Amino acid sequence: MIRTSKLAESVKPSATLAAGAKAKQMKATGVNVFDFSLGEPDFDTPKHIQAAAVEAMNKGHTHYTPAGGTAELKTAIAKWYGRTYGLEAKAENVIVSNGAKHSIHTVLAATVGPGDDVIIPTPYWVSYSDLVTMTGANAVLVNASMESGFKMTPAQLKAAVTPATRLLMLNSPNNPTGTVYTRAELEALADVFLANTDGTILSDEIYEQLVYGDAKATCVATLRPQLRDRTITISGASKSYAMTGWRIGWTVAPANVVKAMDNIQSQETSCPSSVSQYAMITALESPDSAKSVADMRAEFAARRELTVKLLTAMPGVKLPVPDGAFYAFFDVSAHFGKTFAGKAVTDSMSFCTALLEQAHVNLVPGAAFGAEGFVRMSFACSRANIEGGLAKLAEWLSTGK
Ligand code: PMP
Ligand code: GLU
Repeated sequence: MIRTSKLAESVKPSATLAAGAKAKQMKATGVNVFDFSLGEPDFDTPKHIQAAAVEAMNKGHTHYTPAGGTAELKTAIAKWYGRTYGLEAKAENVIVSNGAKHSIHTVLAATVGPGDDVIIPTPYWVSYSDLVTMTGANAVLVNASMESGFKMTPAQLKAAVTPATRLLMLNSPNNPTGTVYTRAELEALADVFLANTDGTILSDEIYEQLVYGDAKATCVATLRPQLRDRTITISGASKSYAMTGWRIGWTVAPANVVKAMDNIQSQETSCPSSVSQYAMITALESPDSAKSVADMRAEFAARRELTVKLLTAMPGVKLPVPDGAFYAFFDVSAHFGKTFAGKAVTDSMSFCTALLEQAHVNLVPGAAFGAEGFVRMSFACSRANIEGGLAKLAEWLSTGK
C-alpha cells in the first residue's frame, strides 16, 4: 500500500461536504431525504451573471489569467469595498482564488506555520481548524457559548492572546450559528486585540450580504484606522450571488501578504477560472445584481422566520434567533441519553446518524463545528422542504424514550 503523508493523516474530511454526499447517495437509491446539511443556496446563479460568462467565452476569455486574477476583477473588487464600506483598497491589495475556502488556505499558508497560535472562537466553520492544522500552526479554540449569543467576549479574547498569537479568525455573519456581531462588539474586540498583540485579524465576511432584521454586517478592516494594515478580509461569490460552483473567492490585504499569496497560488493552481472571473465582474458591477441579491435575501429571511418558528415549538430544542447567513444552530442535548427505535443517542453525531437513518432528515453534528450538544440546519432550501423536514424531526423527537 502506498504510504500517505503526515499532512494527509492530520486532515479530516469536511463534515459538511461528507453529510451532503451521504444524503445524495440515499436519494440516488430512491429515499426521500430532507437534506439540511450543505450551506449552499438552492437558487440558480442570476441570469445576467450567466449571460456574462457566455459573453466572456464568446470573446475568447478562455485562457490562463494572471495567478491572482485579472486586473479588471481586482479593480472591481477594490471599488466594491470603497463603495460598500468606504474601505480604501487598490488592485494591489486584492487576490482572487478558487473559492473562499481556497482564499483562507492560501492566507494561512502565507502567514502562519509551526510555533504560531491562531485564535478561533467556537462554534467555528468546520474547515477552519483543519486548514490551520495543515500549516502546522496551533488552533487555539475559545468557547463562545449560546448564553453569550455565540459571541466571544473581549475578556475571553484577552485571556487567549499569547506571545505566539499570529492570527485571530473572525466570522460574522457566522457559520454555523448565524450570529452577527454589532459594530460596537467588534470594536471592543478590536481594541483588546490591538492593545495586547501585534498579530493580524483574518475576517471571513462571506455572508456579509445575508443579514436580516436590524442586523448589519461590519467590515472589520474599517473598525479602527490601525486595523487597515492589520486585517485580512475574505469574501466571495458563493453565498451572496448563488455562485458556489463557479469557485471564486477573494482576499483584501496589505500588498506584501497579497504578493506572498500570489507566489503560492502561481505554483499551486496557476489561476482561478477565467470565465468565472469575467462573470464575477458583472456580479459586482451590474445594476441588476442589487435586485437579485435583495430577492434572494428576502426569501432567506422568510425561511429563517419559518425555521425559527417551527424549531422553537419543539420540546428540548433551544436556539438563539440567527441574524445572518442561512443556518439555525440548536441545542438538542436534552435528547441525549434517550433511545430512538432501539438506537442510543448520546451525542450530536449519534443524534444525526439516527435521525437520518430513521426519519431521513439530514443535519450536521455540532461536534464538527467544535460545539458538542448542538446540530446545524441549513435553511437554504424551499419552504416546503423546511416544513416537511421539520415536521418529521418533531415526530421523530417524540419517539425518544
Ligand atoms: N467561509 C465560510 C464561513 C463558509 O461558510 C464557506 C462555505 N463554503 C466558505 C468560507 C467557503 O466558501 P467557498 O469556498 O464556496 O467560496
Ligand atoms: N460552507 C458550506 C457549509 O458549511 C459548504 C460546504 C463546505 O464548503 O464545507 O455547509
